Amino acid sequence: MHLARFPRVRLGHLPTPLEPLPRLTAALGGPEIWVKRDDCTGLATGGNKTRKLEFLMAEALAEGAQMVMTQGATQSNHARQTAAAAARLGMACHLLLEDRTGYRHTDYRENGNVLLDRLFGATIEERPGGADMNAEMEAVAEARRTEGLRVYAIPGGGSNATGALGYVNCALELLAQVNDAGLRVDRIVHATGSAGTQAGLVAGLCALSAEIPVLGIGVRAPREVQEANVFRLAEATAEKIGAAGVVRREDVVANCDYVGPGYGLPAESTLEAIDLFARSEGILLDPVYSAKGAAGLIDLIRRGEIARGERVVFLHTGGAAGLAGYAHAWAGR
Ligand SMILES: *Cc1c(COP(=O)(O)O)cnc(C)c1O
Repeated sequence: MHLARFPRVRLGHLPTPLEPLPRLTAALGGPEIWVKRDDCTGLATGGNKTRKLEFLMAEALAEGAQMVMTQGATQSNHARQTAAAAARLGMACHLLLEDRTGYRHTDYRENGNVLLDRLFGATIEERPGGADMNAEMEAVAEARRTEGLRVYAIPGGGSNATGALGYVNCALELLAQVNDAGLRVDRIVHATGSAGTQAGLVAGLCALSAEIPVLGIGVRAPREVQEANVFRLAEATAEKIGAAGVVRREDVVANCDYVGPGYGLPAESTLEAIDLFARSEGILLDPVYSAKGAAGLIDLIRRGEIARGERVVFLHTGGAAGLAGYAHAWAGR
């Protein structure tokens, strides 16, 4: 696997650390839990989109883009990391943000990632919940192109085969770390949304014959839809890296039982996961993604579906910048 063939711009502080979580492990009574700290990718408070943006922004630069455009929910971590990457590379950034939660709290609408988007100089347009966001963005991008601006449009979550290369790279990085440390890993668990993280990870691990199962914990779509989305993108990513056909359908597994009331709406188990990680390990999770992933990890351990003797790596995809948009979720707790 030869990722240096693809244009890439360095944005992240890589490799991210792989650390044991002994107090969380003890609190749950085993298995042995480790965390891959992709919340520490370095750009603009970090997160998983930084790895994808290393490949996406390189394409934008190669095309001579003057502006990057992307879309997401109001508290999108992807929008925030894109805004920061654009600032770093001297490009304008325009964001379309969808109101997926209906929250009217000032902290949700103006603090957290939204505040950071503005600090990085991005311009923002809002759309109501349920809008076809990639179509909306393409329309806005086209309008700007007819004015003569060179616009590079990035799909939601940075999830296409180019963005997923960032997680092929993470598969390489993680495998080197566990091999060097002599750690046999039985499972990787992480939050899955727009599918690029899991697709890149699975494509990379399959191409490397790692034989490490990946479990994506869904944050929005039902399981069949999520697995189909991940599989489609994993196949395209494998093809892009010259490993066509290496991903089998059964390599893509999602569990979507921890979405709770909906995208961006924390369940009780989401808040419990945030409190547990914070108090046992001093690690911040976010209520939209990483804490739903962690809630799945915690519950599957309690049910014995993840066995005591296993060694599990929780891929921390970041998102804590969004916490400042969710102070209301702790009111009265
Ligand atoms: C975007 C995001 C995810 C999900 O990653 P996808 O590649 O969209 O599936 C998980 N965690 C956080 C914090 C995110 O911002």
